Amino acid sequence: MSTTKTLTEARALLSSGGSVVGATEQALAAAEAQQYLNAFLELFPETALEQAARVDAKLKAGDAGPLAGLVLSIKDNICYKDHKVSAASRILEGFTSLYSATVVERLLAADAVILGRTNCDEFAMGSSNENSAFGNVKNPVDPTKVPGGSSGGAAASVAASIVHAALGSDTGGSIRQPASFTGTVGFKPTYGRVSRYGLIAFASSLDQIGPFAHTVDDTAAVYSAMAGQDPKDSTTSSRPVEPISLEHPRKLRIGYYREGLERPGMDPEVVAHLQAHIDRLKAEGHTVEPIDVPLLDHQVPTYYILATAEASSNLARFDGIRFGHRSKVAQGVDETYRLSRSEGFGPEVKRRILLGTFVLSAGYYDAYYAQAQRVRRIIRDHTLAAFERFDLILSPTCPGTAFGHGAITDPITMYLQDIFTVQANLAGTPAISLPTGTHSNGLPFGIQLTGAPFAEAKLLAASKVLFGC
Ligand code: GLN
Repeated sequence: MSTTKTLTEARALLSSGGSVVGATEQALAAAEAQQYLNAFLELFPETALEQAARVDAKLKAGDAGPLAGLVLSIKDNICYKDHKVSAASRILEGFTSLYSATVVERLLAADAVILGRTNCDEFAMGSSNENSAFGNVKNPVDPTKVPGGSSGGAAASVAASIVHAALGSDTGGSIRQPASFTGTVGFKPTYGRVSRYGLIAFASSLDQIGPFAHTVDDTAAVYSAMAGQDPKDSTTSSRPVEPISLEHPRKLRIGYYREGLERPGMDPEVVAHLQAHIDRLKAEGHTVEPIDVPLLDHQVPTYYILATAEASSNLARFDGIRFGHRSKVAQGVDETYRLSRSEGFGPEVKRRILLGTFVLSAGYYDAYYAQAQRVRRIIRDHTLAAFERFDLILSPTCPGTAFGHGAITDPITMYLQDIFTVQANLAGTPAISLPTGTHSNGLPFGIQLTGAPFAEAKLLAASKVLFGC
């Protein structure tokens, strides 16, 4: 373990004579000592220590940025110039980024140190980190369990206290679900609040980059340093980023999903925990009322039609010609495409490309893709309408706790892991998983708070003040 868990502790260490170089060396040692987790695909000792030395010099000169002292990991689908990036896929093995993602540039400019790139499901497709071409990630709380996915390495790197914070990406829950499984805070901002420039695309209309940390304070610090309009991503919003003040004295109106308490298949302890929070919030004088999830049983199918359709288009660029792996045995152009893709992509990615191509094909487009777009619009409208009545919506993050490696083999069962998380992506709202629960099986679990679009400040303040995270 590194000696500090949070940025606040790291700053305290710096003011009592510690250095960022020292903290970085310790983080590197902690990563080496916990290699069995398989959380990191690569450490960046050279550039991390160079950056740390720069930050130490700036601290001495008194002009260090807001993240001075923070050591951070990035998911292996975020580009960092002159560093390898693979999306945990054989098809990009050995590929080096030609430029840095905007989030990387902004975090470095704020004086964070980037320790390395973390393992994940291939192209961020999965809920257990069992789809990586480079092996499973172990859950630091219980290594026999998965850490969740797709940002499993990111979550594990924070849960094991190797780094203070991690960047993940969330297309249907890939930050919040692993946060729930590992006992960390995981935050997906509003679609368009954080630049996706330099994020290897999975499903562009759903993808968002966001942070993991031990505390809401650190989550807010990392989020604030990277949020805001980016001329390189035309889907980012021009709205000014609200300053985050982690105090919120006012009484709130909170909706909670009835289905989160009543749905079959829910772990009874997760339900009881949610109910206890509902009772407590009422007792504290907040208005807490049940609401129905819009089209709950249609959310996961809608998500998987749209996500796979977009993925099949985004992944067309990996063809053995322009990027990454090229088949050594292929002869001619057609065979080069076919074999390079067959050899380079893993089974889950292939399944999704097939499904996505099918739902976009001329004969089925109207029945699947166009229909899913309409359902998405209804889900979004219902979600936004709920925020006319409520400040926040409370739900479980996941139906249960982390499961064993290999325990879920059926893709449909795996996809249902996302039942409470895909709504925020379909509707574009911000949502956070807070580590509030510990199950009698010893594993952590989270609850999810969702806010209206661009209500990050309110969401983060409530997370800290109402849930003490
Ligand atoms: N588990 C979901 C999926 O497999 C979400 C992935 C993600 O958010 N990147 O698609």
